[in-house]
Amino acid sequence: MSRVNLNVSKLVRANIAKLSPYTSARDEYKGDKGVFLDANENPFGTVNRYPDPYQNRLKEVISEIKGGSVKELFLGNGSDEAIDLAFRIFCEPNMNKAIVFTPTYGMYEVYANVNAVELITIPLNSEFQIDTKIVEPYLKDEAVKLMFICSPNNPTGNLINRETITRILEQFKGIVILDEAYIDFSKEASWLAALAQYPNLIILQTLSKGWGMAGLRIGLAWMSEELLYFFNKVKSPYNLSSINQEQAIEILRDSDGFDQRIALLLSEKERVRNALMNLSITQVVYPSDANYLLVKFNNANQLYEELINRQIIVRNRSKVVDNTLRISIGLPEENNQLLTALKAITSEKESIIY
Ligand SMILES: *Cc1c(COP(=O)(O)O)cnc(C)c1O
Repeated sequence: MSRVNLNVSKLVRANIAKLSPYTSARDEYKGDKGVFLDANENPFGTVNRYPDPYQNRLKEVISEIKGGSVKELFLGNGSDEAIDLAFRIFCEPNMNKAIVFTPTYGMYEVYANVNAVELITIPLNSEFQIDTKIVEPYLKDEAVKLMFICSPNNPTGNLINRETITRILEQFKGIVILDEAYIDFSKEASWLAALAQYPNLIILQTLSKGWGMAGLRIGLAWMSEELLYFFNKVKSPYNLSSINQEQAIEILRDSDGFDQRIALLLSEKERVRNALMNLSITQVVYPSDANYLLVKFNNANQLYEELINRQIIVRNRSKVVDNTLRISIGLPEENNQLLTALKAITSEKESIIY
C-alpha cells in the first residue's frame, strides 16, 4: 500500500512550528553514569532525580506488546494530554475547527472549548456509524484541522466501519485522531499496522482501561515521526513521573494476568448481556466491543435513581441516547449485585403495576 501524500507539517500552527523547545543538559549527555550537577536536583533520596522526559524504557516495553515503533510513540499524562496537545499544535484559537461524531467521549469537546476551537458535531446514524455523506463537505475544508473518531465508541460500544475510516483518512486534509481506548477488549485489530500509510493519522490508546492503570494516567499516541517532533516540542518536559513509569513497566510485564483479566471481563460481559436481555424493563442491549454495555430501558432516569439508592452507580446517558444507561463490567460479584438489584427493582415495579 502506498503512503497518502500530504504535508502534515503545514498543518501545524505557525507559532508552534517556529517554537524552540525547552532543552536540558540531559538531552546532550545520554549516559546513566556520571556526576549529575546540572539540574539543581537534591543529591539525597530515592525520587530525587527528574524522570526520563522521553520515557524510553517504558516505551520499549509498550512497543514490544503493541508492535508499534518507539520512534512513533508519544506518552501523555492520560490520553487527555494528547487530546489537549493536538488542539494546541494544530488549531489556531477562534479560527480553526474540529469535528466529532456524537454521541461520543466528552473530553474532545472540553479541550475544544479550553482552546477556543469551534466544534462541529455530526450525529452518528441509527446504527451509531458515520454517515459519510454528511462528512463529505468538510473533508476539503482547510479550516477543519482535526477529526475525532472513537472506535470502539464511548458510550455506544461499537466499532466504526473500517471502510468509512479508510475513506476519511484518504480524503481528509487535516489530522484524524482515532481513539482506540477500548481496543484491548475488541475482536478487531488496532489500526496501528496502517500508521505508515497515513501521515495524518494519530492513534490514541491508553493504559487506563484494558490494562487497568487508570490511576497512573498514561495515554499513548501513535503517530509519524514527523508529527511526534511537534508533540515532544510542546509537551511539558517531565510529563510522566518516574514512579508511574516504573509501576507501569511492572504491570505490563504480567501479560498472562492481562490476558486472563480481559478474558474474564469479556465472558462477564456476555453473562451480564444475557441477564439484562431477560429483564422485562430492558428494551435494547447494544452490541459492544468494549468493557461496558449501553442499555436502553423503559425508564432509564428512574432506574438510575433506584440503582443509586442501592449504592450501585452506573452512567446515565439518557441525555445523549434516549433512555440509556452505560454499565461498566465489574468483578463477577459486582455484576451479580447489579443483576440482583435490577431483578428486585423489576419485581417491585411489577407488584406496583399489577
Ligand atoms: C477512558 C477513555 C480514554 C482514556 O483516557 P485517559 O486519559 O488515558 O485515562 C480515552 N478515550 C476514551 C474514549 C475513553 O473512554
